[in-house]
Amino acid sequence: MFAGLYIHIPFCLNKCPYCDFYSITDTSLHAVFLDALITEMQLIDHEGLHFDTLYVGGGTPSVLDVTSMERIIEFAHQSYPIDIASEITVEVNPGTVTLEQLKVYRRIGINRINIGIQSFHSNNLRFLQRSHSVSDINQTITWAVKAGFEKLGLDLIYGIPGQTTTSWLSDLQQAVASEPQHISCYSLIFEPGTPLDDGRLKGYVVPLSDENICNLYETARTFLTDKGYVQYEISNFAYTYGIESQPLNPEHNQSRHNLKYWSFAPYIGLGPSANSFIEPKRFWNHSSIEKYLADLADKRRPIEGIETLSQEQMMIEAIYLGLRQTKGISIDVFNSMFGQNFHARFKDTIEDLAEKGLVKCSQSHCALTPKGMLLLDSVVAVFT
Ligand code: SF4
Repeated sequence: MFAGLYIHIPFCLNKCPYCDFYSITDTSLHAVFLDALITEMQLIDHEGLHFDTLYVGGGTPSVLDVTSMERIIEFAHQSYPIDIASEITVEVNPGTVTLEQLKVYRRIGINRINIGIQSFHSNNLRFLQRSHSVSDINQTITWAVKAGFEKLGLDLIYGIPGQTTTSWLSDLQQAVASEPQHISCYSLIFEPGTPLDDGRLKGYVVPLSDENICNLYETARTFLTDKGYVQYEISNFAYTYGIESQPLNPEHNQSRHNLKYWSFAPYIGLGPSANSFIEPKRFWNHSSIEKYLADLADKRRPIEGIETLSQEQMMIEAIYLGLRQTKGISIDVFNSMFGQNFHARFKDTIEDLAEKGLVKCSQSHCALTPKGMLLLDSVVAVFT
């Protein structure tokens, strides 16, 4: 089985109030981070793994200059066996890339681009305190196509206070009009400890009701399905047609890298806060650039913690990851992986969840219903 390689670039232009990913805004650390990242690549034995995906995320990778990105991709290839037909993705934010930069990305082998547009409405971008404008979005999409990216992904956020079904539908329409191969629709989460959640606790920000959020989610599912996008995970939709509207293999436009996270494939994460998983071990790096740099200056791996998952933990993880995907948990795979009979072991749980309209199970698969998709965490909790 091929593995995935993830590189976390911990820099952003500014910190969005809802975000709990690790990133900083101190641009003076770009050069020293890059040297540390390269040391980390050299320190990590690839443990016999072969990779067919490389994902440069963050943070905002596109705030690095092109020479830095070139070095990252070059050293990744030098340090790890990365298959020639790999999916190589970079996340960019509108307003942080130029056409020239995107052309260089393409030339150095990046073949998939994910743009964090979030919304085509200025009021939403202001609420989210994004550093880009609507015209930045349109320009970045145009440039990405012009630079030759045939795999274009757009990220949208729904559930923004004040958002209506009409304005959300208009976001979806404008996204689809750009003809991306992939669309992600993320619900705005009030993550504990973020300024956004602080605003909620103090009463400055009033979240949309659960009912409104459900409606927006259903709007996205219905609209995107109608436009030829197949939902393959709770938040992710892939276009299923190619040139001259020929149907594609359903997996063609899916994020191969993210599918690894959901299917127990091994992956190695580099950079501050990055996670790695090589069954049955999970390990994660410091979520602190200072500690990350200090460890690597001493030629030590910047690992903050390691956990060895028990069979029981692996089983719950398999349920969580399986249910995130629209195809659901493959019962045969689950049974042979854990030497269990899924239907026998979870008979009462499945019956109860099915009665509540949250899961739908057949002999071969067990998947969430659309209603269950919005309640993933509570559904998984019932299996423990
Ligand atoms: S740009 Fe993205 S990663 Fe950076 S703070 Fe905003 S949401 Fe977080």
